[in-house]
Amino acid sequence: MGVLPRVPVTERAPIPTWFGVGGGADRLARPETPEQVRECLELDPEAKVLGDGANLLVCDAGVAELVIDLKNPGFRGWEIDDTTGEVRAGAGADLAKLIGECVRRGMGGLEALAGVPATLGGAVVMNAGGAFGEICQFVRAVHALDRQGRPVTLARETIDFGYRRSGLAGLVILGVDLKLKHEDRAALRQRHLEVMDYKRGSQPLKANSAGCCFKNPTLTHDIPELGELGAPGKRVSAGMLIDRAALKGLRVGGAVVSDRHANFLVPEDGATATDVISLMREVERRVHDRFGVRLEREVVVWERRAGT
Ligand SMILES: Cc1cc2nc3c(=O)[nH]c(=O)nc-3n(C[C@H](O)[C@H](O)[C@H](O)COP(=O)(O)OP(=O)(O)OC[C@H]3O[C@@H](n4cnc5c(N)ncnc54)[C@H](O)[C@@H]3O)c2cc1C
Repeated sequence: MGVLPRVPVTERAPIPTWFGVGGGADRLARPETPEQVRECLELDPEAKVLGDGANLLVCDAGVAELVIDLKNPGFRGWEIDDTTGEVRAGAGADLAKLIGECVRRGMGGLEALAGVPATLGGAVVMNAGGAFGEICQFVRAVHALDRQGRPVTLARETIDFGYRRSGLAGLVILGVDLKLKHEDRAALRQRHLEVMDYKRGSQPLKANSAGCCFKNPTLTHDIPELGELGAPGKRVSAGMLIDRAALKGLRVGGAVVSDRHANFLVPEDGATATDVISLMREVERRVHDRFGVRLEREVVVWERRAGT
């Protein structure tokens, strides 16, 4: 009597990722409530948070830290205020489903992220986006726990959003407030379809991958062979650099640089996470040798810490 049930922890659990390779978690918890997330942080202050695994590569040995999976119903729901356009959603909410619901209800903005697989929390941490916009444009506040399990609410203005970064990775995001705007439903549906079509046409969405593997770098020096694109201060497409370095089709073990989109690294049947990591390093090395540009990884890699 009087003792609350602890959050259930599963030992030796797989970590589902879009790459479809890599190891699992020594311990994985699926909390239902913020209180249970706090318990997770008590169990392991270094715990890792799993979203949809769409930007994640786990090394073959897996990870020793407790993995917190926020895809339980307690973190997947949302409330949409049709009058104000305010949306309050759990961090584990499926971004595609949330976008679909907002479009149906005539709330515009998020459809810019159509085709980006993510939980809402993962999308905010990565500041996911693309040609049509970034999620930070719609964020009003983030509700989270810090590593001591203390609740924090951060207003948009205090969050250091930038290109594919938020500065929030140290927190466990539990929920997000968004602000969308009323729009004509038919026009919104049309735009949603157009963004999806654009994604389908430009990226191999069906292949296992984590989307773009590297961030688009800002050039610090002139690259004459890129013409106007190669001027210092310009952000260039990492895929274009990889392509121009003739790396499409480059293979290490079972991992290969996609022929469709050079910034997609794809593990084929039998590939390991080690193959993907080795291929990333090889791409980084060759792009640096060719253009003097150091590619920064967009994909998050979970490595096993030595001795664990
Ligand atoms: C086919 C494909 C296409 C893609 N296209 C795009 C694109 O166009 N634009 C784009 O930006 N990205 C794209 N991506 C990458 C991916 O969709 C995004 O990075 C997305 O935001 C990842 O969200 P996730 O929930 O899967 O996070 P995960 O991959 O599970 O995690 C990513 C990081 O976020 C952290 N995290 C996740 N949830 C939380 C939380 N609640 N609290 C704290 N930390 C958390 C994790 O610990 C990890 O560090 C694509 C991926 C694929 C597979």
